[in-house]
Amino acid sequence: MARLVIDKELCIGCGQCVDACPFGALALHDNLVAVSEACTACGACLEVCPVEALSLPEVSASAGGNTNEYAGVWVWIEQFQGTATSISWEMLGQGRVLADQLHVPLSACIFGADIGHLAPLSISYGADVVYLADDPELAQFRTEPYAQVLQELVRAHKPEIMLLGASSRGRDLAGAVATSLYTGLTADCTGLEIDGETRLLRQIRPAFGGNIMATIFTPNHRPQMATVRHRVFDAPPADASRSGQVIQVPIHLDKAKAFSRILEFIPQSADTLLSEARVIVSGGKGLGDARGFDMLHELAELLGGTVGASRGAVDAGWISYAHQVGQTGRTVKPDLYIACGISGAIQHRAGMGTSRVIVAINNDPEAPIMRFADYAIIGDVYDIIPELNAQLRARAV
Ligand SMILES: Cc1cc2nc3c(=O)[nH]c(=O)nc-3n(C[C@H](O)[C@H](O)[C@H](O)COP(=O)(O)OP(=O)(O)OC[C@H]3O[C@@H](n4cnc5c(N)ncnc54)[C@H](O)[C@@H]3O)c2cc1C
Repeated sequence: MARLVIDKELCIGCGQCVDACPFGALALHDNLVAVSEACTACGACLEVCPVEALSLPEVSASAGGNTNEYAGVWVWIEQFQGTATSISWEMLGQGRVLADQLHVPLSACIFGADIGHLAPLSISYGADVVYLADDPELAQFRTEPYAQVLQELVRAHKPEIMLLGASSRGRDLAGAVATSLYTGLTADCTGLEIDGETRLLRQIRPAFGGNIMATIFTPNHRPQMATVRHRVFDAPPADASRSGQVIQVPIHLDKAKAFSRILEFIPQSADTLLSEARVIVSGGKGLGDARGFDMLHELAELLGGTVGASRGAVDAGWISYAHQVGQTGRTVKPDLYIACGISGAIQHRAGMGTSRVIVAINNDPEAPIMRFADYAIIGDVYDIIPELNAQLRARAV
């Protein structure tokens, strides 16, 4: 969205701004500069214009009006085939904390088909208001129609904070909506607080490979949008006695737009649903090759869990990305995390460091993971895991 303003009275058509634009967004037409949609409002052209013919007016708020007109905390409830994902309830729990601090209502946005039952459930988890868009067009998640519905709702009701899960769908939707609303979006937050002085949302997330925690603000644009990592907040207990308002949202999709169509749906195998698992047995480069995962699958099965992996193992092609735990993989918080042949790099720890009990099996007593594991087993994975499997099998009989 180009916001560059060109004063045609002042422009002398010198072309210096055209050369300075890093995005090729400026061109000369009839000796006057013209701007295209490629403009990112970076301001590079302003610095070189000798006659100050260019300006970037400050945008005070995104969906119209000024920031003071925005109130309320919203949470997008992610659902699949009528079942809400647990991250939705986790966000409602934290959303309730934020809304109470701001003394504003907490609202849930639910999109889908035949999803009316999720409205009272959202209220039981803390929502005061539910915006329910229940329409066959929304039966399956597609970015364009979902984004259109959410944008229109935001423009109409002006929430100050909008939270979405940092899941594949949540990240997709959040990016599309934030871009259209021209507001800020902080991805993968691990902490959300209200700044007592300014009432702004403190959006906290790891930065620089997890070496520092950054606190990000969105002072000039609304809503303040953030995606939230799974399992960083605990879901509150449901309270069926709570009451709230349910607002039906009529759907008017822009038929002129070519929305994507879903041709086939291939379900992910149950054993890759890492984020919900209570027990995870993860493998890393220390396994040596893909066959090492066979014994991990067996151990996971014996413990009623699922298999994870380090990026080292994924990059080696031993297991698919769906299993990757860490900064660029899944965030998990199982009751038991068994890391087999994983060094415990900061990027891996970012995804599993809050697991309740961490067991590390590693032949290097100095490996970083040995410093933060609850139980460190020093030895070769090929000695320890088969023995563990044999003993568990014997117990199961
Ligand atoms: C921007 C960025 C994002 C990243 N995101 C992620 C991420 O999401 N997830 C992630 O995991 N990594 C991520 N990484 C990579 C990360 O930095 C590490 O390189 C990676 O985690 C290492 O994988 P590993 O522990 O399996 O391998 P290694 O570091 O090679 O560790 C192997 C371990 O196995 C042990 N070992 C070897 N043989 C045996 C044996 N026979 N028995 C027992 N132990 C043995 C070794 O002592 C060693 O500790 C990211 C990196 C960057 C720069």
